[in-house]
Amino acid sequence: MATANWAGNVVFSSREVHRPTSVPQLQELVARSDRIRALGSGHSFSRIADTDGEHVTLVGLPPVVEIDSAAATARVSAGLRYGEFTGRLHEAGFALPNLGSLPHIVAAGACATGTHGSGQANGTLATAVSAVELVGADGELRTVRRGDPEFPGSVIALGALGIVTAFTLDLRPTFGIRQWIYEGLPLEDAEEALAAGHSVSLFTHWAGAGFEQVWLKQLDTDPEPPTTWLGATRAAAQVHMVPGVDPQHCTPQLGEPGPWHERLPHFRLAFTPSSGDELQSEYFVPREALADALRAVDAVRDRVTPVLQVSEIRTIAADELWISPAQGRDTAALHFTWVPDTAAVLPAVAAVESALEPFGTRPHWGKVFGTRGEGRLALAAPAGVRRPHAEARPGRQVPQRDAGDLRPPLSPGLPLHHRVRQHPDARDPALRHRAGADVHRPGCAGGDDVPGVQRHHRAVEAHEELR
Ligand SMILES: Cc1cc2nc3c(=O)[nH]c(=O)nc-3n(C[C@H](O)[C@H](O)[C@H](O)COP(=O)(O)OP(=O)(O)OC[C@H]3O[C@@H](n4cnc5c(N)ncnc54)[C@H](O)[C@@H]3O)c2cc1C
Repeated sequence: MATANWAGNVVFSSREVHRPTSVPQLQELVARSDRIRALGSGHSFSRIADTDGEHVTLVGLPPVVEIDSAAATARVSAGLRYGEFTGRLHEAGFALPNLGSLPHIVAAGACATGTHGSGQANGTLATAVSAVELVGADGELRTVRRGDPEFPGSVIALGALGIVTAFTLDLRPTFGIRQWIYEGLPLEDAEEALAAGHSVSLFTHWAGAGFEQVWLKQLDTDPEPPTTWLGATRAAAQVHMVPGVDPQHCTPQLGEPGPWHERLPHFRLAFTPSSGDELQSEYFVPREALADALRAVDAVRDRVTPVLQVSEIRTIAADELWISPAQGRDTAALHFTWVPDTAAVLPAVAAVESALEPFGTRPHWGKVFGTRGEGRLALAAPAGVRRPHAEARPGRQVPQRDAGDLRPPLSPGLPLHHRVRQHPDARDPALRHRAGADVHRPGCAGGDDVPGVQRHHRAVEAHEELR
């Protein structure tokens, strides 16, 4: 039974963890449960996967990978880890456009939080989804397809709309990647470097003049890049982004060609990238603000470096999924791998969020955040919005939102961090990082002017119904 997340910073409060072995069993379980939440592989650092109701894991469901070569699509069990099905896609001559850094993460969990890799033309992993099969609060299994009005809110949905059992994914022809590492990139060359390959990551410890490493993942049909580039030098040996950690945990570098699913993740499936001795935060800014955002973080580096393991900069293409980190804008992501010490990390998180606040910053739903930031993606609560699917729960009283219910003492339009600070958990600094749970709680007033807020609100309402 899962009692904590991978990093150990969130101890789950669930009463029970269910492990159904068929979809009908899952439906029956959801229909009779008053509060239930899916648990993926538990790799989120926020409290997003937690519940004090019941947990359900899909590891007992039969694994399905059905490839439709003519349509270039695959229907896959949402409870599979990417590393468990991407090889099958490659063998059939297909690929996904992109992957996250870790193949160990479950597809449903990754898509639910907007997990992403890098690449200016690559969207979040959820953008490859064309249909979602999910068991709603009433126990009914339904399919939401691209083109349906609710589709843009049904893929990145924080586990709020139901238990996702399968995805249909768009495929492209398989491709090969070569991975090169460069060392010593000046800060001002970040944008040019990030545009240089299919997927590019920049790593820094905010201790020197720029980036210690550039991970350039280019198509194997591209010409071999030069040994020196933008003032950086190509590494002559396999490296890890965290000094002192065994580089053999990383996918092959030094330009060794390999299929997409064995090069796009930073880490090999066969290795655990670390023992979970870390916390992570990540913030999304408009891509055109990257240079300013980097300078803003650089200005607070003294707060950051004492608790930082490494920082990674990536890019994501804009999408139209309502609560996507890249919704409506090409995006740059500033990631921080922290030491596993919540109390020590929280002031650094606050400093980064404060520095990034002017850029309309959004947090990664699955990582540590909550004291500042999140910009104008704050959850607003238009009064009287009716919960979707409310009728589907016979005998269940679904209270209507009252415009005043949680508004005082909040002011209209206050961003989420203000609400987090007022949540009882916020009194305990050790728990403040768990503020992801507040994401689901309605109650921030005003904010109708905020793009995406009303749509976001629908997901929140549906989540409340599921609980
Ligand atoms: C070492 C490491 C590396 C990482 N690298 C990246 C990265 O490269 N890019 C990035 O963006 N993020 C990254 N993350 C963050 C990670 O991808 C997200 O937190 C992701 O959500 C974790 O997926 P999970 O399966 O562990 O989900 P969980 O943490 O278990 O759950 C996350 C959410 O998904 C929901 N969920 C899970 N299964 C289902 C289901 N079947 N139906 C409905 N909802 C469901 C849960 O209810 C919860 O809301 C990394 C995390 C770690 C620990």
